[in-house]
Amino acid sequence: MHRRAFFKTSGSAAVALAVGGCASRIGPQTTPTQAVRRRLVNLVPVECSMDRIIRTTVGLRPTRKSGFLLRADRLDDKTVIHNFGHGSEGMTLSWGTGFLAADLAMAHTDRRAAVIGCGIVGLTSARQLQRRGFDVTIYAMAVPPNTTSNMSGANFERDTLESPSEQTRRAAEIAYREHQLLVGSGYGVRWLNVYTLGNDVPAAFAAWVAAAPPGLVGALMLGPGEHPFGTKYAFQNSQMSFEPSIYLDALMRDVLTFGGRIVVRAFETPRDLMALPERLIVNCSGLGAKALFGDDELHPVKGQLHVLVPQPEVNYRVSPGMTPRSDGIVLGGTAEAGVWTLDVNEEAKKRIIGRNAAVFNAMRPPLVGVPITGLGTPAPVPGVDRSS
Ligand SMILES: Cc1cc2nc3c(=O)[nH]c(=O)nc-3n(C[C@H](O)[C@H](O)[C@H](O)COP(=O)(O)OP(=O)(O)OC[C@H]3O[C@@H](n4cnc5c(N)ncnc54)[C@H](O)[C@@H]3O)c2cc1C
Repeated sequence: MHRRAFFKTSGSAAVALAVGGCASRIGPQTTPTQAVRRRLVNLVPVECSMDRIIRTTVGLRPTRKSGFLLRADRLDDKTVIHNFGHGSEGMTLSWGTGFLAADLAMAHTDRRAAVIGCGIVGLTSARQLQRRGFDVTIYAMAVPPNTTSNMSGANFERDTLESPSEQTRRAAEIAYREHQLLVGSGYGVRWLNVYTLGNDVPAAFAAWVAAAPPGLVGALMLGPGEHPFGTKYAFQNSQMSFEPSIYLDALMRDVLTFGGRIVVRAFETPRDLMALPERLIVNCSGLGAKALFGDDELHPVKGQLHVLVPQPEVNYRVSPGMTPRSDGIVLGGTAEAGVWTLDVNEEAKKRIIGRNAAVFNAMRPPLVGVPITGLGTPAPVPGVDRSS
């Protein structure tokens, strides 16, 4: 069972391990009955109100019902390797699908490749190709900060490690390792404790953690009095998050450092690709692949984010919907399938702010004299120079 799903379970049967005055830490190395005493969780609430919104962003997730497309096709004398349609998991899977796309490229004799697209999938594919010795040029009609990838909630979706699709699982495993090597302010990748809140401990919880799904780390069920939230229980685990504006810029820099080129150019039809000098093309055009290659399955799932004034002292996530970044506190949680407009959904905006205000207004203020808990300090903004 996925983490997202288990707090939706309404079963009121409390799991004995979760209560009794001390938190229970459960993971692959411990049995569900082991309980570990630990200090109180002390966190700083988010200051959430309409007047603290500094920007709202809207992005269209490039979604395919059967999952991302990874396949090599012939187009006259060219080979086109498709790598698009990552839906709500593109930030998570990109290094992995880029690796698999580079595997396919190795079957080609040329060591010169064109990558279409400069979002997260194009950039990571370019890097994976460069690591194997390819000379890469990225062609894209939009580059960061103007890609869908820049509008992303950008958390590592741990569920992908349990995907029923072997291809997705493989991509997720590669990406999970890769992201861990990028942790730090240079790439804007960091670990955060994530809290999922509820008033019942779902009966499914014990079975779920006992199964020790891959990537479930730092799992802890906090009972009444052990956490600062307004609910009875808070389930904690540790996951990775990304800051797109830092991460994408760093990847562009890497592509250029390793001899790549980035060319701003739009393609209307596959025939336009014929004019490229490269015979090997990796298509990472995201939702653009629908018009460019007529992929029937590809559709948008619109999502909007509301960003509040930064609070560097907030160093945890609340699921679903709140991720702190150095460029603001990101609140989200919308998914409108089939909607192509980038207009702000005002109803959703009120709902998101209202829901989060309720969560954070109900929080206990930080305890004086008790250290703030968490996984280190928030990532500082590195010296990215946008002026050149
Ligand atoms: C609100 C929101 C929250 C999200 N949260 C998460 C999350 O928590 N975790 C996660 O893993 N994912 C998340 N996602 C999904 C993730 O952001 C996407 O899957 C990912 O950004 C897709 O990347 P991409 O490179 O395929 O597409 P894009 O970023 O859209 O890049 C496509 C590139 O192709 C270029 N292009 C397209 N058509 C053409 C053309 N005809 N000619 C030339 N160039 C073209 C574009 O200009 C662009 O450079 C979220 C998305 C949204 C909107």
